Amino acid sequence: MSFMPHGKHLIAGEWIGTEQVFQSEPAYGDAHPFSVGTPELIDQAVQAAEEAFWRYSQTSRAERAAFLNAIADEIENRAEAIISIGNQESGLPEARLKGECGRTTGQLRLFSSLILAGDYLDRRHDEALPDRQPLPRPDLRMMQRPIGPVAVFGASNFPLAFSTAGGDTASALAAGCPVVVKGHGAHPGTSEIVAEAILSAIEKCGLAKGVFSLVQGGNRAVGQALVQHPLIKAVGFTGSLGGGRALFDLCAQRSEPIPFFGELGSVNPMFMLPEAISARGTALGQGWAASLSLGAGQFCTNPGIAVVVAGSEAEAFIEAARFSLSECGAQVMLTDGIAAAYNAGAEKMGLEKGVDNLLTSTFYSREAKPFLFKVAAKDWLENHSLSEEVFGPLGLVVVANDVEEMYRVARSLDGQLTATIHMEDGDTALARRLLPVLERKAGRVLANGFPTGVEVCDSMVHGGPYPASTNFGATSVGTMAIRRFLRPVCYQDIPVELLPQDLAEV
Ligand code: NAP
Repeated sequence: MSFMPHGKHLIAGEWIGTEQVFQSEPAYGDAHPFSVGTPELIDQAVQAAEEAFWRYSQTSRAERAAFLNAIADEIENRAEAIISIGNQESGLPEARLKGECGRTTGQLRLFSSLILAGDYLDRRHDEALPDRQPLPRPDLRMMQRPIGPVAVFGASNFPLAFSTAGGDTASALAAGCPVVVKGHGAHPGTSEIVAEAILSAIEKCGLAKGVFSLVQGGNRAVGQALVQHPLIKAVGFTGSLGGGRALFDLCAQRSEPIPFFGELGSVNPMFMLPEAISARGTALGQGWAASLSLGAGQFCTNPGIAVVVAGSEAEAFIEAARFSLSECGAQVMLTDGIAAAYNAGAEKMGLEKGVDNLLTSTFYSREAKPFLFKVAAKDWLENHSLSEEVFGPLGLVVVANDVEEMYRVARSLDGQLTATIHMEDGDTALARRLLPVLERKAGRVLANGFPTGVEVCDSMVHGGPYPASTNFGATSVGTMAIRRFLRPVCYQDIPVELLPQDLAEV
């Protein structure tokens, strides 16, 4: 089934075109024209979201759960066309997009179950103590309430699961917040067809059309107007450190500052402890290469750095990784710009002091191949740029002289989404020393695994200290993501008949 995009924005149920257009840049197939977004369209979308909020925030959990399930159904009805255009635009293989489509509908249904269960409301009740001395206690009840219209920036690397109907949108809608999405220019047609699915669900569920809008990009002013709009109450973002930081600063500079939940960069270091390297260095090298090159390395949790202690066993690990990476074929990257940034980042790393080029490659246009570099921990510690993310299948081995130097590398890390320890029983003492350091640095700490698979569940944390994210108390994956779009309200001595239904039951 093919899908021919019309190229318009979805503003509160209306498909609206603008005179100025930009062309999509698909990896395969024909480019299509898309209307360029404008600050005026953002204003219309946000005003409609604010109007919709008054009713949507008062809907029952059952109504919102049905809505989330309806969106999942509507996406499934269009799955073939969604995957086809997603593949053309992003170059991601159809099998990967099929999995991502399932993850997207799974997330929507997970949030549906979550709100039906009701625990996320964190309801509390301190009953009145009228006879308490010296002062009586009032009746106090607390519950989490939705915050208002939420802005979501679609991510380039997850056209479905982190974009139009992705985790940010699903969690905000579950909380009771209308959403305005700024579509990512890398996959505008995919955004359009998913927006069509959401609109269909809105109509079937009889909700206000302002609950969801999609404004396509093509102009930086669109994203800036969105985060600066006075009626927007929070922002969900996945993307680059530079772009995220610019938008975060705009949020902080508003007369009413708002939270910016930015999921930015991370190199996801792995600490290969000596006994593990000795027992299974070759297998670890092969495993690392597979994780590093998955999806052309375009995962937020891509393990870009492996830290080893110098020795012949470490060399066997490095050689296994190098050989496996050298066998990887070229993979299409998400956009020409991302491919160019990858190439430039790899070239720059290869020229840094003390860096050995173990595997270099040249590639054509958007087709990336892996790079592998090696540097002594001493040089790595002196050069902060070596700890910055190069988005793509690029690995850097940091070779420490001894475990003390490995520990110093851990202590010097910036905030990360993940940090991994590979260990055997004989490494336990060193692992016990590293863990308090790594838990301070990362949102998720792993043993004997690779961080690229991110489970969508209750315990998942996909966030971390800056610059991994702009808000260390939050996660953008898993059920806890809903907390970003809620705030606690205390109701003191409010008559039961006036309380929100959910709180009256407590
Ligand atoms: P990006 O450049 O940060 O763009 C993400 C979104 O933010 C886009 O909608 C973009 O709009 C908007 N934006 C960026 N800077 C802005 C600004 N100053 N003002 C207003 N809007 C702004 O990220 P990307 O396009 O996804 O990929 C580029 C780079 O991001 C990659 O090379 C990679 O380094 C990084 N990346 C990292 C992750 C991760 O998970 N860590 C994921 C994806 C990408 P426009 O499209 O109009 O520019």
